[in-house]
Amino acid sequence: MPRRVAGSLPRMHQDRLGRVRAAMEARGIDVCLLSVGPDLPWLVGYEAMPLERLTMLVVPLHDRATLVVPKLEVPRVRHDTEVFDLRGWGETENPVDIVAELVGGASTAAIGNRTWSQFLVELQRRLHGVAFSNASEVLGPLRAVKEPAELDMLRTAAAAVDRIASELQAGDIALIGRTEAEVSAELGRRILAAGHHRVNFAIVAAGENAASPHHEPGSRVIGRNEVVLCDFGGTMLSASGAGYCSDITRCVVTGEPSAEMLEVYAVLDEAQRSAVAAGSVGATCESVDAAARSIIESAGLGEWFMHRTGHGIGVEEHEDPYIVAGNTHRLEVGNVYSVEPGIYLPGRFGFRLEDIVATSASGPEALNRANHSLVVVDA
Ligand code: ZN
Ligand code: ZN
Repeated sequence: MPRRVAGSLPRMHQDRLGRVRAAMEARGIDVCLLSVGPDLPWLVGYEAMPLERLTMLVVPLHDRATLVVPKLEVPRVRHDTEVFDLRGWGETENPVDIVAELVGGASTAAIGNRTWSQFLVELQRRLHGVAFSNASEVLGPLRAVKEPAELDMLRTAAAAVDRIASELQAGDIALIGRTEAEVSAELGRRILAAGHHRVNFAIVAAGENAASPHHEPGSRVIGRNEVVLCDFGGTMLSASGAGYCSDITRCVVTGEPSAEMLEVYAVLDEAQRSAVAAGSVGATCESVDAAARSIIESAGLGEWFMHRTGHGIGVEEHEDPYIVAGNTHRLEVGNVYSVEPGIYLPGRFGFRLEDIVATSASGPEALNRANHSLVVVDA
């Protein structure tokens, strides 16, 4: 039997549903269709299993929302009866027919941007004349403005990875003589032990590999006097049923850094600090990117900073708002994003420095507080 939850959760989900409906109305969307991905847990606290059996929340503009879910997964659903109806479908039923019936006479549908094309193609075939658009246009701007409880979750998740970064800097995590993959696995274990329910990534890049921003940790053994770049994060489950992400990057050196390393790192540290400080209410995302980039360019290193400065973070590791040239979105209270400039010298070494930052009325709040220095680790 589905469990019934009492208290504030249905109210929170009802409130979000109300805001989604207002956004649908403003955009002329008749129905929202949400499947795998973070929109569904954010909205009703249930995460669809990413399997071949369709799970889909149908949110008509005026009728009640219905969660269409495989019958065998109904026991997983924490059913807020005040928020949505539940329609379990049996093995011999076609869930696309059920969704199509619930869509009714709608002429515009917004579908979650993580929905498998298999289902989208079937729905489009079944729903002639319905114009489909991307549900991120409806939910993205709402999810980008965090509620106080969401900010608390992001602070908790940030503090958890801060502790791991401090352990790394204190030499509690052995580096020299181990492979990147071994250190990555240990970071993963610590991410779980720190209270996350999922590891999202644990990049460990040593020496010349640190010059590859999305390096896949491998069999390379970490030596002495090398840069070790660690970028890691996980998802922490909240009481609402949605998970909130952490994401931090710190670099250490296994021995005395060279003068060049110190020089490059000092530029990066200054660039990162300026970008964090630039994140006031009303500042554009591109101006935050420019704050970091201009300092790295002035130092003659602009060519080696080839990615955007940051990304929004919440129930998804990367979401709105993106801190990138061309994004004229003005930061508002409740926006949360990463500030993570990097300088990558091909074939030699690289650095990235990343904190999560929340926009607040009193100025930018860095959620990560771990030491920014290029710490020497003899471990
Ligand atoms: Zn990161
Ligand atoms: Zn990041």
